[in-house]
Amino acid sequence: MTVKTTVQPTARLIEVFSAIQGEGLNVGTRQLFIRFALCDLRCHFCDSAHTWNAPATCRIELTPGLRDFEIHSNPVSLPILIQWVERQNLPCLHDSISLTGGEPLLHAAFLKEFLPQVRSLTNLPIYLESGGHRPEQLAMVLPYLDSVGMDLKLPSVSGESLWTEHTNFLQLCFNTHLEVFVKIIISDNTDPAELERSAAMVADVSPDIPIFLQPVTPLAASEQLTETPVLAPAPEKVLMWQALMKQFVPQVRVIPQTHKMLNQL
Ligand code: SF4
Repeated sequence: MTVKTTVQPTARLIEVFSAIQGEGLNVGTRQLFIRFALCDLRCHFCDSAHTWNAPATCRIELTPGLRDFEIHSNPVSLPILIQWVERQNLPCLHDSISLTGGEPLLHAAFLKEFLPQVRSLTNLPIYLESGGHRPEQLAMVLPYLDSVGMDLKLPSVSGESLWTEHTNFLQLCFNTHLEVFVKIIISDNTDPAELERSAAMVADVSPDIPIFLQPVTPLAASEQLTETPVLAPAPEKVLMWQALMKQFVPQVRVIPQTHKMLNQL
């Protein structure tokens, strides 16, 4: 059954569900995921290409972790999303709420109203996962965030040079004393010069910010976005690149997408 909503403000969503976080600093924790539609980047390795455009419907898990999804039409109103979060928020279950996508900051106007309400209702920390290229939108929601994972996009994978935006984004997080980390996806074709520049950029903001190198999970043939498949880096390259970056930032950790190993969403 498709349920319709017309109340303002609204957001375009992909899904709401409860799962284990598989990446970065919060790896292994239980999160209530709100995955927003729309992304303004086109990364070669994207495993969420279904989020790029706003779909007519989204899917909402009815019971945390049971994958008993109900289909709802987009856009979704703020009170309805609050109701869904309340239903998912069973006692002692979630460590935090994850705002993911797509690019959640394309919904900054919605988040500015939604986040203070959901925070006071659930008392859960709010974690933002972002491409880190929209510092102006980040500034709109910063007071309501507890931690941020900045997905630094290397020019060789996103096709765009976003160094200035990434620097401003990271600086804003650091100045606000948020828990922040940087994630960089690496493939066999990653340019070490870009990794070196990334580490230097992070160190300029603060050498205490941890960096997570995430070897790309190769996409299935039917999902590939480039003519030549994007392959995981050879083990010796990973060791070399970690050593290179540790000259700038002490905490450079290498963690693959563990949620895929666990068959999580
Ligand atoms: S920012 Fe994320 S959702 Fe957007 S294209 Fe890149 S990997 Fe995909």
